[in-house]
Amino acid sequence: MAKRVYLLSEARGLSRDLLGGKGHGLAEMAAAGLPVPPAFIVTTEACRQYLKAGEVPGLWGEVRAGMAALEGLTGKRFGRGEGKAPPLLVSVRSGAPVSMPGMMDTVLNLGLTLEGVEALARATGNPRFAWDSLRRLLAMYGEVVLGEGPEVFEGMLSALKAERGVGTDAALGPEDLEELAYRYLRHLEARGTPFPLDPWAQLQGAIEAVFRSWQNPRARTYRRIYGIPEDLGTAVVVQAMVFGNLGEDSGTGVGFTRNPATGEKGLYGEYLRNAQGEDVVAGVRTPEPLERLKGYAPGLYEELLQVAERLERHFRDMQDFEFTVERGRLFLLQTRAGKRTAQAAVRIAVEMAEEGLISREEAVMRVEANALPGLLRPSVDRDQAPRPLLKGLPASPGAAVGHAAFTNEAVERFHAQGLPAVLVRPETTPEDITGMYLAKGILTARGGLTSHAAVVARGLGVPAVVGAEALRVFPGEGRALAEGVEIREGDLLTLDGGTGEVYLGAVPLVEAGGEALLEKLLSWAEPHRRLGVRANADTPEDAQRARAFGAEGIGLCRTEHMFFREDRLPWVRRLILAETPEEEALALERLFHFQKEDFKEILRAMDGLPVTVRLLDPPLHEFLPPLEALARRAEEGDEEAGRLLRRAEALKEANPMLGFRGARLLLLRPGVFRMQLRALLEAARELKEAGHDPRPEVMVPLVADPKEVERARALAEELFREYGPIPFGTMVETPRAALLAAEIAPLVDFFSFGTNDLTQMAFGLSRDDAGKFLPRYVEEGLFPFDPTERLDEKGVGRLLRMAAEEGRKANPRLKLGLCGEHGGEAGSVRFVADLLDYTSASPFRVLTARLAAAQAGLSRALKPA
Ligand code: ADP
Ligand code: MG
Ligand code: MG
Repeated sequence: MAKRVYLLSEARGLSRDLLGGKGHGLAEMAAAGLPVPPAFIVTTEACRQYLKAGEVPGLWGEVRAGMAALEGLTGKRFGRGEGKAPPLLVSVRSGAPVSMPGMMDTVLNLGLTLEGVEALARATGNPRFAWDSLRRLLAMYGEVVLGEGPEVFEGMLSALKAERGVGTDAALGPEDLEELAYRYLRHLEARGTPFPLDPWAQLQGAIEAVFRSWQNPRARTYRRIYGIPEDLGTAVVVQAMVFGNLGEDSGTGVGFTRNPATGEKGLYGEYLRNAQGEDVVAGVRTPEPLERLKGYAPGLYEELLQVAERLERHFRDMQDFEFTVERGRLFLLQTRAGKRTAQAAVRIAVEMAEEGLISREEAVMRVEANALPGLLRPSVDRDQAPRPLLKGLPASPGAAVGHAAFTNEAVERFHAQGLPAVLVRPETTPEDITGMYLAKGILTARGGLTSHAAVVARGLGVPAVVGAEALRVFPGEGRALAEGVEIREGDLLTLDGGTGEVYLGAVPLVEAGGEALLEKLLSWAEPHRRLGVRANADTPEDAQRARAFGAEGIGLCRTEHMFFREDRLPWVRRLILAETPEEEALALERLFHFQKEDFKEILRAMDGLPVTVRLLDPPLHEFLPPLEALARRAEEGDEEAGRLLRRAEALKEANPMLGFRGARLLLLRPGVFRMQLRALLEAARELKEAGHDPRPEVMVPLVADPKEVERARALAEELFREYGPIPFGTMVETPRAALLAAEIAPLVDFFSFGTNDLTQMAFGLSRDDAGKFLPRYVEEGLFPFDPTERLDEKGVGRLLRMAAEEGRKANPRLKLGLCGEHGGEAGSVRFVADLLDYTSASPFRVLTARLAAAQAGLSRALKPA
């Protein structure tokens, strides 16, 4: 039978998948000679087995042997306090292969009993500490293992403080904490879930609870958001306790080897004196910056600097580490690659390469391409900003404007109405994950830069201000107070997570400036990129922006947006209403001029680069006012509305997505086709005459059969004879077009894979309705991720690959591109990097596409043949 329990010294070299990130990091640190309290690791395999079968035969024997080893290493004894040795207390910690901060559970001080308290008091000479340890264990165990709500223990603590007439926990003496521990014990007893006074029963209960915490709702939500597989399971680390709450020469802290917000090199972090474990991350007391240690504990500060240096050299990445100081002695409790903002990721990668710690290629591979849009996040326009209402810590950069929401439910309500929300909380806990995910910004009253709110917000890329101490939040009452100003639910707030400032009302924002470091990173990346990157852009502004981000043309220029503009819409409606050829011709003539001017501007913005124009795609009734509005106006005697109503009723479709649109509409109303193409060709001709270099291309949407393409091509040829030809292509966005690629390819110059529709039709779902079930599908593990966000390689990707290969075989000069939303998603870009000629992304995602395409090239180069 495979071994399932490993001491740190035995775990060296085993995989992170087996040991979990926490166990793996501890084993590495121990091997590197850093001071780590003795520990053993129960593998993820045991967890998986437990979750499947409800038990793991033979596991407890292995755990007992692990415990005996810890006793040997510490000289302490796990048990009821018999014998002379001081009691061995342990933490029972969760740790998945992929970091899921705070999502699962941990129990501290485990192994303590009523007899053990006395022994611990003797061993430390500190009875207050001993009772405090027990009452913390009872509360944590009660919550994590026995399923009691944390507020119950908090409530009993507050009640006791009120009885004793004291304001802080620190003012409670040992007898008070003893009293509290007994109250907790009695409460758990009365509840029918007594606390086990046998340490071995505690240990088994805690290990099983940690296994089960893999399945808790917030962990599931987190995995869904980050696309982490459901079947990894968590490892359990059982580690000898060290105590940061033994007095002023003790404490606990979190360090980063570089600044996680900006990437600046240097030890960075926070420390809380005379505190244990979660006190720092929980944001209960606001900790002090590590620098302050220079003043009163310079030796410790120096030691931390050396630790940071060694961690970086060992792990070759920015590390986020937890440490505890017990009576002046430093212990490391965790290390992991630190979460960082997009800015920090780029800076750290570039600087580490320049320091020689990693290669340039590694630097390119290090940066998560999907995070780059976060680099371009706006900030508050200082010139137009009023005096800030509040100032807190700048926890996650970017500015946000939204309606104040004090609960997850409130955020969800605003979100459902399409309104931006700012989540305002005293502090956040893992329970708040849904609200944090949906909110445009996060504001908390308490907590430091490493508080839960700050860490999670940076990970999600949501702007956040934390520890705004002047803020008092009353979530139950749906209000907050800031310097005497009341904030009610729904009030507009603006926050700037780059400066920590918070304003009442909506303050104008400014776009972020260019990033020199990103330029450098991209300059290292670009030589490895083969895939072309274009942009989806419908306006000259978008085209310019995309070009500034390095787009090599436009892969999708949608023309319908041009029709929706106020000056055109009446003519579009006249076109729809036209009853005679003359009426239709007049409407088309007017639209032609608008369209030509639009095309000219876009072609000019992309001078010298290809611009692929997609002819009209949506069904005509999208250009009419809603039926109800028309009916009302018709009733009021509006004749025009009456005619529109009759047309609208005639055009109405049960399923517009699969209705009279795209090629179907263009072929049966060729006037629209001719008008659009002529406008494009004439725009190009005029620009060329003025000395420009326009490169238009045209494509037809939604074809399903070669006959449609043939007919469209014939229509286009009529105009090509007059103006000269331009590249003519078709979208491949119906499964049938993909299946018939070999027949279609000889008729065109290019395919553009419209993966939005291709995904919808391959799955038989509509993106507009999928919100009702897709998130749950992902949550329940039916789908590994949302295929409307990331290209489904297995199914849609197979259609795409087949169409690409068969199309190329039938027409070796065929050019291949992708223009769905997926075109700017890093994983999807990597998938098509070897398959297509170019991808096309929304302007802000052009950088993502460039980097992802380069990463694909690099990993191909690095892969052994
Ligand atoms: P999380 O994964 O939520 O960070 P951890 O397992 O790291 O949970 O534990 C929570 C807190 O308890 C952390 O601050 C950690 O440093 C502290 N802690 C865990 N084990 C010990 C230990 N053996 N001695 C002292 N503190 C510990
Ligand atoms: Mg931790
Ligand atoms: Mg489409």
